[in-house]
Amino acid sequence: MNLVLIGPPGAGKGTQAACVALAWGVPRISTGDILRRAIESGEPLGVAVADAMTRGDLVSDEVMAELVSNRLAHPDASHGFVLDGFPRTVAQAVTLDGLIEGRGPLTVVELSVPASELLRRLSQRRVCSVCGVNAASSAPSSQSSCPCGGELVLRPDDDESVARERLAVYTRATSPVLEFYKARGALRTVNGNLPENDVTERINLAIDPLFDKYIDELHGTWTRRTPFFTS
Ligand code: AMP
Repeated sequence: MNLVLIGPPGAGKGTQAACVALAWGVPRISTGDILRRAIESGEPLGVAVADAMTRGDLVSDEVMAELVSNRLAHPDASHGFVLDGFPRTVAQAVTLDGLIEGRGPLTVVELSVPASELLRRLSQRRVCSVCGVNAASSAPSSQSSCPCGGELVLRPDDDESVARERLAVYTRATSPVLEFYKARGALRTVNGNLPENDVTERINLAIDPLFDKYIDELHGTWTRRTPFFTS
């Protein structure tokens, strides 16, 4: 399963990518998380990208191509992946085509959410400083840690002026990527302005209309109960 989740900042890509990756048994690859970790650890990649990220700008296509190429070469991605945050430009989409040649079809799901709701979400969201997953929107503000034990923090680039810049960058640089995939019939659009579980269900159905699933009520995780691609 080769999936790209695409959508503006605050659309819920991180949350949904984590659910879908778990359900399908493939890694979630968040380019934003990889870059944030590189900045935290002070490695050369982090130093090179910190300014662009602080401004809400995109990191260069060349840097992103190398990063994603390396990550997709890991054995855990050999049977598929959920990409969260890549591609963000048409040049990156072309790069991705080359990187996954021979790996089966690519499915692209766009999460669509109105701009006013995106800004509201970005002003409130907290993310885990360890695993990078967003705190559930229903989590009380008194909750300070993620289920993995990591501390929940605000993202500096969710500050309103930077968030507005990131939305503008999305419209300018990433909207053409939607057209790129639409033209080849690979794009499915899901309403991201619904409760989290409903969005997850719609994504799973957009990926595979035969996906037969239930929510494990005890653990709140998606569980597959039919083998792949059998009816
Ligand atoms: P995200 O966590 O996906 O919202 O990404 C946070 C920031 O990382 C973005 O605002 C960009 O500065 C950078 N970034 C992440 N993915 C990409 C990408 N595919 N291309 C360029 N910049 C990226």
